[in-house]
Amino acid sequence: LVSREAREEDTVVRVGGAAIGGNQLVVIAGPCAVESREQLLAAAHRVRQAGAVILRGGAFKPRTSPYSFQGLEEEGLKLLAEAARQTGLATVTEVVDEYSLELAVQYVDMLQVGARNMQNFRLLQAVGRSGKPVLLKRGLSATVEEWLMAAEYIMSEGNEQIVLCERGIRTFEQSTRNTLDLSAVPLVKSLSHLPVIVDPSHATGDRRLVGPMARAAVAAGADGLLIEVHPEPARALCDGPQSLTPAQFAALMEELRAVAAAV
Ligand code: PEP
Ligand code: MN
Repeated sequence: LVSREAREEDTVVRVGGAAIGGNQLVVIAGPCAVESREQLLAAAHRVRQAGAVILRGGAFKPRTSPYSFQGLEEEGLKLLAEAARQTGLATVTEVVDEYSLELAVQYVDMLQVGARNMQNFRLLQAVGRSGKPVLLKRGLSATVEEWLMAAEYIMSEGNEQIVLCERGIRTFEQSTRNTLDLSAVPLVKSLSHLPVIVDPSHATGDRRLVGPMARAAVAAGADGLLIEVHPEPARALCDGPQSLTPAQFAALMEELRAVAAAV
């Protein structure tokens, strides 16, 4: 179902007022985690002013350590809904199990399946039945074929509104958090009709590399970007080192408009 043979035309995924996979570059931005009302609303207003159309923020965080901040859960979802009301932004948040899914569908416009759950097949089937658009991240060590099969699990439940997100893969290289596989963008777009976006934040783990990789992703034909932005990255409870300040994000958005106009 996900292959180009199954459908020739590009799929356009609609999230609130945004259309991913059309001709417009769609930027999803916001903090790694929803931490507080002040933090989320500040981030939401700043990313909207800069031109983002979808707000991200984790309420259920799949952290490497069980002692790290795990997210505000339903309280975080309520804050996302409030930020959406105030700004008009659409929202996306990660679901990690049936419980978080059941709650998230009540508050947000799009569901994210994270890298760690890309092969959680029961979760894929459940988001496939949810009726919400899905942002499916590539697994930490997933091949392109495995990633597309994960999308197939969602689509086989009747949900065609899927956006694929390249977020870097595990390699021998230790100097970046992951290795951004930019070749996956044109490759997957040739194999599948689904839109493909790039997450340079998790791919690099380093805010200095986010801008250059974001520009490269647009040049490579990505339909959008997912970028972590925090009003005060130094105080972030999660992924501060890769988060842009609102001012850095606004400057990057200007650069991206120039790149998008050139491709
Ligand atoms: C995230 O987007 O917050 C996240 C946890 O990303 P990934 O699943 O790509 O690591
Ligand atoms: Mn993060």
